[in-house]
Amino acid sequence: LEREEPHYFGAGPAQLPTNVLQQAAKDLINYANVGLGIGEISHRSKEAAQVIENTKANLRKLMKVPETHEVFFMQGGGTTGFSSLATNLSAAFVGKHGITAPAGYLVTGSWSSKSFEEAQRLGIDAEVLVNAKDYNNGKFGVIPPETAWADKLKAKKYSYVYLCENETVHGVEWPSLPKALTDSDIEIVADLSSDIMSREIDVSKYGVIMAGAQKNIGLAGLTIYIIKKSILDDISAASDDQLREAGIPITPIAFHYPTVVKNNSAYNTIPIFTLHIIDLVLQNLLKKGGVEAQQKENEEKANLLYGALDKHSDFYNVPVSKSCRSKMNVVFTLKKDGLDDKFLKEAGARKLTGLKGHRSVGGFRASLYNAVSLGSVRLLVKFVEDFAEENA
Ligand code: PLP
Repeated sequence: LEREEPHYFGAGPAQLPTNVLQQAAKDLINYANVGLGIGEISHRSKEAAQVIENTKANLRKLMKVPETHEVFFMQGGGTTGFSSLATNLSAAFVGKHGITAPAGYLVTGSWSSKSFEEAQRLGIDAEVLVNAKDYNNGKFGVIPPETAWADKLKAKKYSYVYLCENETVHGVEWPSLPKALTDSDIEIVADLSSDIMSREIDVSKYGVIMAGAQKNIGLAGLTIYIIKKSILDDISAASDDQLREAGIPITPIAFHYPTVVKNNSAYNTIPIFTLHIIDLVLQNLLKKGGVEAQQKENEEKANLLYGALDKHSDFYNVPVSKSCRSKMNVVFTLKKDGLDDKFLKEAGARKLTGLKGHRSVGGFRASLYNAVSLGSVRLLVKFVEDFAEENA
């Protein structure tokens, strides 16, 4: 169960700590000496229930989740989250107010864009409050100022406002939650798939947090949800008949948040091996000093890499405004044509992998998720500098 330490900068699924995978590999064969692997035991066994409880407790501890909020897990990844957030949150508004209201989307890259499109496709009344691409001459790479959309927010009621905290493809990250949202009583719904536990946040400010596990905290197959308990009550208060009448699509039962929570995330078979890996990652993070320590390391990693790219700004281009550069996904291009393949080949020769940019954006992307070590980033920085000097 050995491997050479990878220097993998892929955007997801991402590298995980080797010690976590070694433990998980053992537990896949024989978990806690029960003579069966963790993936073979019943999802209703006491061992499985314990894994669910441990993971929830560690997640609560790491993210300082207040008592007002519930934690649960669901299958389906971030994309299923786009659909289930739209239907559950629209139902919550109906349950609470007896009427519908549009959902507002802050679009800052391709993932928030996809989420908005899914809400619309489902027939939810959804509006773009601001689209960063329209704001910035057709290109993502900025977060528009609040003045560009705050008046719209004040002008009428919205069922919720959605944002993606870190746009994985475009490398754009909200530095903090916008004041126009935190100062209002609107429910904030946020996709944290690619920055969960990379930095400290105040969970009490959010209505719902959704995050696919496969970047910072585990394998694909499970999505983490943190939801205000009052929103669960509001969803439960909306009857199917009321929703049909209001034109809100009925949420499939496996994605109906109150049902999943009532059944302790095991309404249907939960992928317990995937959950166990999340638990091992969280235990590992607690030992490392928690999110606070991880945030410091992530800031150091991002500063080193952006520092090198900026130092060679005659050679590299970072298409994201300094005020919203992602600490998780560093997107950059070469100013000279014809060198992209050479860059990847020479990086590969130094065992630096996963650097190719997203197919829709091109160039390069170095993802600096929690499991990517400072040592790996130092090797990448050295390469970035050497390549610029050799090819300028
Ligand atoms: N949201 C963000 C921010 C993502 O980066 C991704 C995938 O990379 C998704 C959502 C979609 O996740 P999934 O592939 O699990 O559906």
